[in-house]
Amino acid sequence: MRIDELFLSGGERPTISFEFYPPQNDAGAETLFQTIHQLQALKPDFISITRTGGGTEQTLELTLRIQRELGIRTMSHLTCLHHNKDEMAAHLATLWEGGIRNVLALRGDPENGQLVFKAPKNGFAYANELAAFVAARQDFCIGVAGYPEGHPQCLNRTRDIETLKAKLDAGGRFIITQLFFDNADFFVWRDQCRVAGITVPIVAGIIPIENVAQIKRFVTRCGAKIPQELLLKLEAVENDPAAVYEVGIGHAIAQCRELIAGGVDGLHFYTLNKSKATAHICAELGN
Ligand SMILES: Cc1cc2nc3c(=O)[nH]c(=O)nc-3n(C[C@H](O)[C@H](O)[C@H](O)COP(=O)(O)OP(=O)(O)OC[C@H]3O[C@@H](n4cnc5c(N)ncnc54)[C@H](O)[C@@H]3O)c2cc1C
Repeated sequence: MRIDELFLSGGERPTISFEFYPPQNDAGAETLFQTIHQLQALKPDFISITRTGGGTEQTLELTLRIQRELGIRTMSHLTCLHHNKDEMAAHLATLWEGGIRNVLALRGDPENGQLVFKAPKNGFAYANELAAFVAARQDFCIGVAGYPEGHPQCLNRTRDIETLKAKLDAGGRFIITQLFFDNADFFVWRDQCRVAGITVPIVAGIIPIENVAQIKRFVTRCGAKIPQELLLKLEAVENDPAAVYEVGIGHAIAQCRELIAGGVDGLHFYTLNKSKATAHICAELGN
């Protein structure tokens, strides 16, 4: 089933989805499969598999295996990194033949610490080009990325929303946001999107904080901010993993409750391939 049909079917609660990344080896893949199996009890509306590090093959294999063996609606992330148009066309055909109907069209981050993204020869420079390429081939449901705090490489917020709109005009059917911690940023940005004529569902990206050093690295990379009050609470206990977990989970639960009250279309959990925190939050939300 396509993800956009979930929103059309008008359920009373926001969609719940989980994101995983492909592990580096077979042992890691088995562990991840167990984790997904555990989270399956929460009846996620869909699962997404990132395209990171190792290669597209790992994303492809994992996506197909989850859909085939667990029967969960699965979305494969696509990036402009590494692939020219011919390779992307072949990759899309394999996904389609494997029964995958949902993809997230992304540019990808520059690799190896480089500051500027370099498009492969005969490839795609921006996600809107990739989305248009996908839409012209198979009838995938295409998701795109949105940035409540702005994309770090775009200093003009209005242009950032124009970029988002270009991805939707190219075929995007829904948006998943970058992680954020301050709902005020999300609500203001969502209003700006609606004023700009963006009508598609907007799914909020949520990450449960379990490690202070790690989350600081993430936010530095993706241009999000940790609100001062939360940061001080985390830093006060940063050497006590159990206490960090309590603070991080407490924030995520409160954040999700407020988003639900604010009519969010969906909650997308960046699980980091673990089940405990996400399961805990979903249980508190009554999922
Ligand atoms: C939900 C989610 C999942 C993600 N999953 C992955 C993943 O699996 N693998 C991975 O590598 N990364 C992933 N990322 C990170 C993402 O690849 C980076 O944030 C990347 O820097 C931008 O990707 P994008 O698709 O938003 O790019 P784009 O929409 O192409 O935007 C990239 C930058 O270029 C600018 N821009 C866009 N179009 C134009 C134009 N025509 N002219 C000039 N400037 C333009 C934008 O304003 C922006 O600053 C994910 C991000 C999100 C939010």
